[in-house]
Amino acid sequence: MPAEERICSYSTVLMGSPILLKLFSHDEALAKQVFGRIKRLEDLLTVNRADSEVMAINHAAGSHAVVVSRPVFNLIKRARAVSLLPGSCFNFTIGPLVKRWKIGFHGDAVPPASELQALLALTDPRLVSLDEQNCSVLLEKAAMEIDLGAIAKGYIADVIKHYLQQQQVDRALINLGGNVHTLGAGWSVGLKKPFAAAEELIGVIGVAGKSVVTSGIYERYFAHNGRCYHHILDPQTGYPLDNELLSVTIISDDSLDGDIYTTLIYGLGVTAGLAYLAAVPQIEAILVTKAKEVILSSQRQFSFSLLDNEYRLR
Ligand code: FAD
Ligand code: MG
Ligand code: MG
Repeated sequence: MPAEERICSYSTVLMGSPILLKLFSHDEALAKQVFGRIKRLEDLLTVNRADSEVMAINHAAGSHAVVVSRPVFNLIKRARAVSLLPGSCFNFTIGPLVKRWKIGFHGDAVPPASELQALLALTDPRLVSLDEQNCSVLLEKAAMEIDLGAIAKGYIADVIKHYLQQQQVDRALINLGGNVHTLGAGWSVGLKKPFAAAEELIGVIGVAGKSVVTSGIYERYFAHNGRCYHHILDPQTGYPLDNELLSVTIISDDSLDGDIYTTLIYGLGVTAGLAYLAAVPQIEAILVTKAKEVILSSQRQFSFSLLDNEYRLR
């Protein structure tokens, strides 16, 4: 019997995203456990409701430090470190700009340049103080906001994979809407065709036990006066990052790494991005450009087959 026929799929919507779990046996109870765990982590990390741990930090900006749970503290610590890397376009204090643009949410529009300029003053990651001993976080200026939207799914995917391993599951796939994590061999992950119907693929990525994270400009965006405004913002200018890339896919052991690197490499662009990746062999990438090229960094941890002849491999 072909393997595909034995796969049991479970789906739900969490974090404003379609969530899919594939198992090799019918186990409704396990799927319920997994979705419950994702929901609890969403409740800690979301900035789309008033009452998460991250929002408690944001509400206290310019006032006082807030004690959070150790996992949230550790995630913020990692986000701060990545935000402070030289030349990093990753910035976890991007919140005020994300909230102002509302890209992917109701009411998105191009804000006046003067407003964006003013908000940039609130996006300095050095103005976040971490107290390791007390497990607390302080935003030093009022109206600053942490936004973990670029990495929270990666963290959650890693937690879920670990949980499945603890439950003795040796083959599974979890897709958190852009963050795919796998257990065991023989998984195919589609590389979506930008600005096309959801089921149209540029190609297929084959992995075993790896994370596959894609970040692109074609999922959450709006068009205005012939320009595409997408959700990866340039912390230098306050506008969406503008370069030759349509998407970055990262193949790695951990999905948190994948999520961090998709944003970092997107910001670097093709040439600097590939140079950067050459120094981190455990992280591999597939870059898709506006010129319809598919560029593979190296290919030790995955296979790739191109399906769409509008695109060419470089
Ligand atoms: P990525 O490219 O990985 O990340 C893009 C996101 O990162 C942006 O949306 C922004 O939040 C942030 N960002 C932008 N620029 C930068 C930068 N320079 N540096 C660092 N970060 C940046 N969506 C809904 O529609 N409704 C919801 O209720 C909802 N709840 C969510 C709750 C949680 C806990 C999470 C993690 C996400 C939720 N989302 C929700 C989705 C969220 O709004 C983002 O769209 C999503 O996190 C983007 O992830 P991605 O992997 O598609 O993109
Ligand atoms: Mg992501
Ligand atoms: Mg990301």
